Amino acid sequence: MTIVDTTTELTARESELLARVPDGLYIGGVWEAGSRERIGVQDPATGRVIKRIANATPEDGIRALDAAAAAADGWAATAPRVRAEILRRAFDLLQERREDFALLMTLEMGKPLAEANGEVTYGGEFLRWFSEEAVRISGRYGQNPEGTGTMVVSQRPVGPCYLITPWNFPLAMATRKIAPALAAGCTVVVKPAELTPLTTLFFAQLLEDAGVPAGVVNVIPTSTARAVSEPIIADPRLRKLSFTGSTPVGRTLLAQAGQNVLRTSMELGGNAPFVVFEDADLDKAVEGAMLAKFRNIGQACTAANRFIVHESVADEFARRVTEKVQALRLGRGTDDGVTIGPLIDDRAVASMTALVEDAVARGARVLTGGTAPEGDGYFFEPTVVVDVQPGSDILREEIFGPVLAISTFSTEDEAVAAANGTEYGLVGYVFTRDLARGQRMIDRVDTGMMGLNTGLVSNAAAPFGGVKQSGLGREGGLEGIHEYLSTKYTLIPA
Ligand code: NAD
Repeated sequence: MTIVDTTTELTARESELLARVPDGLYIGGVWEAGSRERIGVQDPATGRVIKRIANATPEDGIRALDAAAAAADGWAATAPRVRAEILRRAFDLLQERREDFALLMTLEMGKPLAEANGEVTYGGEFLRWFSEEAVRISGRYGQNPEGTGTMVVSQRPVGPCYLITPWNFPLAMATRKIAPALAAGCTVVVKPAELTPLTTLFFAQLLEDAGVPAGVVNVIPTSTARAVSEPIIADPRLRKLSFTGSTPVGRTLLAQAGQNVLRTSMELGGNAPFVVFEDADLDKAVEGAMLAKFRNIGQACTAANRFIVHESVADEFARRVTEKVQALRLGRGTDDGVTIGPLIDDRAVASMTALVEDAVARGARVLTGGTAPEGDGYFFEPTVVVDVQPGSDILREEIFGPVLAISTFSTEDEAVAAANGTEYGLVGYVFTRDLARGQRMIDRVDTGMMGLNTGLVSNAAAPFGGVKQSGLGREGGLEGIHEYLSTKYTLIPA
């Protein structure tokens, strides 16, 4: 691994872009900054504050819900074609502003520019996909079995929604919720993660430019997520809560949502198994491992967490993957040639250190990396550990960082038991050349998604989501819009 020296001063281009990002709350079509308290947003590559933005209070949260509730009927009554065209315009504007969005995400979140560009593509696809879905919302119609009437099943927007997003994919996690909600005819209040609110504010400005009417989308960054969210979730005008984030916060929100029997979608944590059989194409497996582990600096819910490798190929797999890891270039995501950026904050660095230390104390060996380099920013070396023993924290916890942990198995049943030995069930990866075995693993590994001989599954056209404690509901695909629709049945007697 190479560490790329970085300049810590903002370039003229970066300063100019940051100056164009709104610094206020967006409520009822009005940008509000005023003299309120501010949140300082940091560049994780330097630890420096790059912009200060307005910090929403609980009263602001309720005013945002007022705006969403006031706009709800008008937006629900807006022709699907009109909603579709606004979303399509937003997709086109995002392509025009691609470089700004990519740079902004790199600045506030740290991922390398090429990956930020990839997120603009991925995040944008939700706008295009749901602009196409908006005009295909349909129901059923038929005679009742008794022949005494007609049954009509229709789909209605659920109403005002509260959308809470995490910091790891600042654009895509917002578009994956906002696009289907708007397509379905729902209005929204969005609370971005306090660590990365700039992308969402910049995106709200884009939606305004695309023609989204006032009040349909409201954005309230805050450093007091719980205090701002509780009154919104308790308000009977709210009809839906969609959350992406950690499982512990998801549990708290589900309990709060239970009070009003609120519709919920929960996209929570993962602990993905990455199983490599003895007949796997090892080049493909290594390529898949690099993507599944080091994309987004390991900070993805879909990140491979546990590499479960057949004992006969484990050494060779570890050798080849270590070679690739050593070729990574760690640095600020804007710098040329950087392939891996900083972690989001100092807590994340401390957590990597603790996980590696615990694994080593229980008998694992570090093949490369394992420490946080000296200097500014929240960096941790990309790391490979082998001989990870059962009971190690690294197998139980969501790592959420650039640490690749390998343990071994000898039989298929053992691989299945290891893969399923977690309370999470978001995604699993399997590498084998044997199609029948691949099919058995797809059936037996208890997850919402599977990658067969690939390390990347996300696609706007596919239903993304988990089972067990990885969550409830699906985002994207044909399923995604139904999270924002409720089914209504009407009987019309003959
Ligand atoms: P987090 O749970 O700490 O925070 C997520 C969001 O919830 C943030 O906006 C935060 O401000 C807000 N929040 C925190 N406490 C809250 C409370 N009491 N009430 C209301 N809002 C509250 O998660 P994070 O660290 O931002 O993101 C990382 C986690 O997200 C990981 O566990 C990752 O697996 C998960 N994630 C899941 C998916 C998925 O689709 N399943 C996608 C991306 C990330």
